[in-house]
Amino acid sequence: MKKGISRRDFLKGSAAVAAAGLLGACTASSESTQQSETEQQEQPSKTLKWNEAPEKIAEDQITKTLDTEVLVIGAGGAGLMAAAGAAEEGAKVTLLEALMFNGTERHWIGAVNTKSAQAANVNFDKKELVEELMRYASCRADQKLIQLWADESGSAIDWLADLMAEKVPGTKLHMEWDIGQGSHGSYKIFPTMHNFQNDETKETVDYFPSLIERCKELGVEMMYETPMVQLERADNNTGRVTGAIAKNADGYIRINASKGVILCTGGYSANKEMMEELNPTAYKSIAGTDSHSFNKGDGIKAAVWVGAAKDDDATCMLFDRAAIQPDRFIDGNWDDSGYLIFGSHPFLKVNLKGERFVNESLPYDFMLHAGSLQPKRLYNTIFDANWHQHVTQMHQIGCARIEPSESGGLLQIFDHESAEGLLQGLIAGGYIQQADTLEELAEKLNIPAEQFVATVNRYNELAAKGSDDDFGKEGYRMIALDTAPFYGARQGATILCTLDGLRINTDMQVLDTDGEVIEGLYAAGNDSGGFFAHNYPEYIVGVAIGRTLTFGRIAGKSAAKA
Ligand SMILES: Cc1cc2nc3c(=O)[nH]c(=O)nc-3n(C[C@H](O)[C@H](O)[C@H](O)COP(=O)(O)OP(=O)(O)OC[C@H]3O[C@@H](n4cnc5c(N)ncnc54)[C@H](O)[C@@H]3O)c2cc1C
Repeated sequence: MKKGISRRDFLKGSAAVAAAGLLGACTASSESTQQSETEQQEQPSKTLKWNEAPEKIAEDQITKTLDTEVLVIGAGGAGLMAAAGAAEEGAKVTLLEALMFNGTERHWIGAVNTKSAQAANVNFDKKELVEELMRYASCRADQKLIQLWADESGSAIDWLADLMAEKVPGTKLHMEWDIGQGSHGSYKIFPTMHNFQNDETKETVDYFPSLIERCKELGVEMMYETPMVQLERADNNTGRVTGAIAKNADGYIRINASKGVILCTGGYSANKEMMEELNPTAYKSIAGTDSHSFNKGDGIKAAVWVGAAKDDDATCMLFDRAAIQPDRFIDGNWDDSGYLIFGSHPFLKVNLKGERFVNESLPYDFMLHAGSLQPKRLYNTIFDANWHQHVTQMHQIGCARIEPSESGGLLQIFDHESAEGLLQGLIAGGYIQQADTLEELAEKLNIPAEQFVATVNRYNELAAKGSDDDFGKEGYRMIALDTAPFYGARQGATILCTLDGLRINTDMQVLDTDGEVIEGLYAAGNDSGGFFAHNYPEYIVGVAIGRTLTFGRIAGKSAAKA
């Protein structure tokens, strides 16, 4: 934790790790109190499904009416960029946030052709990047939106970098150009990741405080603890969106927005009902969560209630890092898992029968997809005493990086020392098993010892040969597991966020089910869709928050100019 990761990030990332359990529980409790209060507000009838509109809030329940020009809902990355963008254009802006604090900022930012990239001489074929993103989405994405991110993310993140240089002198936008061999298995890697760092300490620097300050300087009115509960659309949901109803300690408030409402509530990863219905495949693999606890789907639901179209394909960001104790299965409990950073390393993975089943050199969610075909949808990651040397040789990038990067700065969340600490904490918590022999490890993992030992022996034989004849993993990632102690962890998926959302055009205007613009309604960040389908392309590192920040800024400017 000492380098390149804030304490808050660590808590978010490892709330269930035994060592951090107490502090993690503290952070969760204030959110969950508010969460339960708002759940009561949101769900007037328990029989309604997520996509069924509740009764409109009665006029006599509305205690106050406010007028603004642009109403931004949700103060995370998308909302803050939207608010600043709209206010820069001279609009009167109101920003609503359900909680008493802003959403959580994310530090690995994907962008193309920033000034930092130019300074590092990073060049690649943008067309190839767009094609790769389309391929990841099986072409069930809007190529215009992907092209827009490729074209506009550089200037959006440069704008943020200029703001940071002004507000936090000594901050530099670093970029990760050192991407190993440029591929991960057969998946191409593009150098897109950026990170704000202090030039001297190399610590990651938060950008939300500067964004919030800029919003305030530009006159954005921020209303915390004021969740939006419904949108208002004229002419019986056929006309313009005129504003929203929110609720706070004063009761229901009507906020009229003459130029537009921008939905930035961050998707639905904390709404189990929506997850189970919309993405049953992912749901059945989830063993732990790192989701923001208020990503309840409010923006998507409210828009669907007034006629908006949503992506057909559910997509979420799943990380292969949820370690569970070896007597646990996927059981809908997302609150008891350890943060297994090695889950995302291409170590040997074996199913609950002790068999190898895939080339482990896969993007995070692809590994989980392969695992979901295995008994109980679970598998184990296996490593040994030489893991330091092995992770160096494996050369992971992005947020799985443990090795220092040649790109300079500190681009890894965990270094060897903090990974060692994490490992010890997980062993103490019973999330990782340690043993002196392979047989003992099998017993502790509750998998058949004979098959497991045969699998490891075969793996070691292929590693010695330097050729994975069984599954085709790159030779340099085939490394024998022959030195005690041996380690193993049963694992499933960690849910981070959802990535399917409302259909939008390139001005971030929300579309209805006929593909027509709903005047006055915009969406950005994880409330918006058309960009990802089925998978999150981890090896276009940071594209999620890169899209969020870029499209937030575009949404703000579009709404202000309306
Ligand atoms: C642990 C973790 C790490 C991640 N790391 C990265 C990374 O390094 N790089 C990357 O590219 N992506 C990363 N992501 C994904 C990234 O967080 C998202 O893509 C991005 O934050 C989405 O931003 P957003 O503004 O749409 O949502 P959020 O940042 O979640 O903001 C939504 C806001 O809306 C508020 N809200 C919700 N409902 C209401 C309501 N009814 N009324 C008012 N406000 C409401 C919420 O409280 C929240 O503040 C990570 C995700 C997680 C969970």
